[in-house]
Amino acid sequence: MEVILADNSGFCFGVEKAMNTTFKEINSNQDKKNILSLGPLIHNKQVVEELEDKGVKVIDNLEEIPNGSVIIRSHGVPEKIYEVAKSKKLNVIDTTCPFVRRIQKIVKDYHTKGYEIVIIGNPKHPEVIGINGWCDNKATVIKEEEDINKMHRVDKLCIVVQTTMSVSHFIKISQELENYADEVIKFNTICLATKERQKSARSLAEKVDAMIVIGGYHSSNTQKLVSICKEIKPNSTYHVETKENLPIELLKCYNIVGVTAGASTPKWIINEIVKKLNSI
Ligand code: SF4
Repeated sequence: MEVILADNSGFCFGVEKAMNTTFKEINSNQDKKNILSLGPLIHNKQVVEELEDKGVKVIDNLEEIPNGSVIIRSHGVPEKIYEVAKSKKLNVIDTTCPFVRRIQKIVKDYHTKGYEIVIIGNPKHPEVIGINGWCDNKATVIKEEEDINKMHRVDKLCIVVQTTMSVSHFIKISQELENYADEVIKFNTICLATKERQKSARSLAEKVDAMIVIGGYHSSNTQKLVSICKEIKPNSTYHVETKENLPIELLKCYNIVGVTAGASTPKWIINEIVKKLNSI
């Protein structure tokens, strides 16, 4: 079997930065006290378990800590969290990705200027919850086309999109939203890493017999890679988290297999999977 790895796959720059900052914190943590992360640092179970072994404890809210340091993950958090952290005099280690920070600034700015805000994205995703918290939680979140019926006509509309959405989804929904306001300003805030990974996955899927997409089952950007690959290879796209999930028997019939990985998938997991595929 020939195995081809997508040109752009695995850790993105935002996740890499969050991981490096956290490891720096682990190494300088002389007292071996718990390092606290507000939510799992990244959407990868294996990495979160590894970090837990090194003393990184995941907490759900700031109420749980009286003092000390807390890591804010790359997905970012609502503005209110910074106020709570300040009032509790917590040391904030902020790893919010600059691409997410930009969206937070846009929605705050346009909300202040009187625009209605629409976020195209998953309302349950921490990044979207965080962004909404920068415009007083007043944004309308649109995940699918059918959610557009939540909209009412407004004067001014500002549209942003979750960093990991697919470009085609953003174009389709934002075009329909143009009918709902006299003035519409759109920001394609899909991040560069996402665009590159989606483009590479698409072009690789066109060349191979089957696609393996590696990444957390709850990872938004990995799920998008799966749906892009499924558009091209509907019956031979497989989403796995680790080498144990590979459907070995099914894969035996393919000559060329492509591999891609979401932005929160570490290199060691990709390498293990490529090695196992090469042995088929
Ligand atoms: S996927 Fe994009 S926005 Fe999210 S952390 Fe990576 S670079 Fe930043």
